Amino acid sequence: MTAEHNNEVSPEQSAELLRLTLPMMSRHKVPVTPRNYAVWFEFVRGENAELRAEIQSLIDTKTPFTPQLNDTLFEKYVAECNIEQFLKIRNEMTDLMDDVSDSLQEVGSEAQRFGGHLDGVVENVQRSSSLDDIKELLRSLVEETRTMRRSTQLLHEHLEAKSREIALLQEELEQERRRASTDPLTGLANRRTFTETLAQHAEKITQPGELSLLIVDIDHFKEVNDIHGHLIGDRVIRFLAQVLQQHTKGQDLAARYGGEEFVVLLPNTGLRGASAVAEQIRHAMSEAKLVRSDNKQPLGRITVSIGVAAYQPGEDPMDLVNRADQALYRSKQGGRNKVTVDMDTTGISNRA
Ligand code: GH3
Ligand code: MG
Ligand code: MG
Repeated sequence: MTAEHNNEVSPEQSAELLRLTLPMMSRHKVPVTPRNYAVWFEFVRGENAELRAEIQSLIDTKTPFTPQLNDTLFEKYVAECNIEQFLKIRNEMTDLMDDVSDSLQEVGSEAQRFGGHLDGVVENVQRSSSLDDIKELLRSLVEETRTMRRSTQLLHEHLEAKSREIALLQEELEQERRRASTDPLTGLANRRTFTETLAQHAEKITQPGELSLLIVDIDHFKEVNDIHGHLIGDRVIRFLAQVLQQHTKGQDLAARYGGEEFVVLLPNTGLRGASAVAEQIRHAMSEAKLVRSDNKQPLGRITVSIGVAAYQPGEDPMDLVNRADQALYRSKQGGRNKVTVDMDTTGISNRA
């Protein structure tokens, strides 16, 4: 071994040399046996000028690399190659393969080409008859190569299947979340969503007039059902839901509280603003000219009664609902098609 052989080669350099060596051996039809590999690794590395010159001249003169010639080159230049060096090469090869598997996606065709050369190693190493220990090491390299390629492929498939599964689960979860928070008849938020949202807002309120609530109830709805039937009743409920949606925006939340009763939560809104919204809703309903979709018969005037209340900092959110409900009750008592503001909170200054 010449002095140059002992020069340390960095892992990056080794990987690069390895990348260059295998295709070159393949190009010159040199079987990738451990011995030949050692010769050509040195050739590519270029530290041994004599070896480099001889091989270059053999290439230039298109001399076939027969088994005898290969043996001669090995004996002449790298016979002193020891097991440690092959161990090193083996490690470099496995490192490189790790690297290749990692970047299989990016490297694409180049990785496939390298894969092909590794297959060459697989075949030739099986035929190698000398240096049993090295052969054993290379056999394990071959095994590792196979395992790595197999596991890379399996991992890839596994990950793909997993990510498909996860996407599906996420979609189901999202559907379930929507189902659980939405009223199926109107598409508005349901009572649960309303209660949760109210609690979240209430927690943050420090000043009066920062959060208001409307409770909206259809007047004499039982009659609508009795005269026109339940299906038409449902249509009326859906119509009111649309009206509520048209009169809410941003952080406002319109929800179906139950039956023909709705709530509208108005953050950053005081009693005056909330009353205005309520009045618009009441007006829109009383002015609507609803007709039956089947026989175009007018449904007659369908009105709503509304109760309005503002949240008082620190109170139980259900107290707000109760006060709005009491205001609604007074609207009903006052003849329906009315908006009533909760008396207990009217004195409180508000921002809207
Ligand atoms: P008021 O003006 O006092 O509110 O009278 P009302 O008839 O509206 O009040 P009541 O509570 O007596 O009746 C409400 C009716 O709403 C009774 C129920 O059958 C009907 N209802 C509740 N939920 C639905 C629904 O989902 N679809 C239909 N079509 N009707 C419903
Ligand atoms: Mg009613
Ligand atoms: Mg009711």
